[in-house]
Amino acid sequence: MTDDDLSFDTLAAHGPSAEGDALGPALQLTTAYRFEDADDAAGRFAGSGGEIYQRWRNPSVVHFERAVARLEGAEGAVAFGSGMGAISSVIGATVGAGEHVVAPLSVYAETAKVLRGPFARLGVRTTFVDATDPAAVADAIEPDTRLIAVETPANPVLALTDVAAVAAIAREAGATLMVDSTFATPYHQRPLAHGADLVVHSATKSIGGHGDVLGGVVAGARARVDAIRDHGVRSMGAVLAPHSAFLLDRGLRTLALRMARASENAAELARRLEADPRIGSVSYPGLPSHPQHELAKRQMERGFGAMVAFEVAGDEPLAAGRRLYDRLALIVRAVSLGDTHTLVTHPASTTHASMSAEQRAAAGIGDGLLRLAVGIEAVEDLWRDLDRALG
Ligand code: PLP
Repeated sequence: MTDDDLSFDTLAAHGPSAEGDALGPALQLTTAYRFEDADDAAGRFAGSGGEIYQRWRNPSVVHFERAVARLEGAEGAVAFGSGMGAISSVIGATVGAGEHVVAPLSVYAETAKVLRGPFARLGVRTTFVDATDPAAVADAIEPDTRLIAVETPANPVLALTDVAAVAAIAREAGATLMVDSTFATPYHQRPLAHGADLVVHSATKSIGGHGDVLGGVVAGARARVDAIRDHGVRSMGAVLAPHSAFLLDRGLRTLALRMARASENAAELARRLEADPRIGSVSYPGLPSHPQHELAKRQMERGFGAMVAFEVAGDEPLAAGRRLYDRLALIVRAVSLGDTHTLVTHPASTTHASMSAEQRAAAGIGDGLLRLAVGIEAVEDLWRDLDRALG
């Protein structure tokens, strides 16, 4: 049977074939490899394919990259020591001084920071736009635009970007489209199939799936991936450690099971929260009330992911959001997402506290907004915790 005959769940559960008759990949911790003689050493440096040094290649890392490439339907993938290592490497390999990036206003804060800080200092210009509107992306294109970087669903309000529409804009402009698909994982969304050039993940999240390892990965056409590997891994050194690759790869074996359960839980909590008079609003791409629900149905598969954002009703949203946050007992107050247990963040007092209330409101982040990164627990236990905390 070829990969094309197999369902996502089977591809994820089996992973790529390992070396020899082992069912799983070897974990090889050596940093360097022995050369037989000068000819052998010279041959390896000239590209004979023999191993040289861990920053160049490691079997556990290669195995993880192959597993991700299969699940994303990509020619190749390159792994990094973190999601930010992956994102920074895509930017660094794609854009130079005097060139231009289009990025969403609603994007992971560190991605915005790296564009506004280090890359701006090197002469890279960025225009931040409302990427829910493809026309706003098109309007921001300049002659030197090299990269359009979007995130869908995006943090923290779960706004979507129409990947096919923005891919058409990127093609027309001769720019690369990178999609941060961390919230969706390849289980729910395959951006390359909608025309994106590159898909990136913070593998730290649902790909690892157990909250115990940092990593990042980029998938796409082989030539692009190789250029990003050369820049980000081999030169800049954002390399993934073999033991981390082993854990991330193991996470992929259960990705389908975990995402199915977590997104089922999230959908059920979103429905119950929306029906509850104590709640002001709920954002979940799977709810018909989500302003981009039709796009979500076109672009996402097998459900709508494990992230839910909601606001408590009432006149004092900041106090109400903080009160609910404090009262949760089972749901854990922590950043991150994609863990086995459900995590909650209150953006107004943490990740988005440096913005004014007005700036937050303009970005659609109410002061009472809570973001749930739903896990794989029994949904009734999660609901009892929310219901009791709402009082
Ligand atoms: N992209 C998104 C959407 C994220 O949520 C995060 C981290 O929270 C990152 C990228 C960065 O990933 P990492 O923490 O693995 O560097």
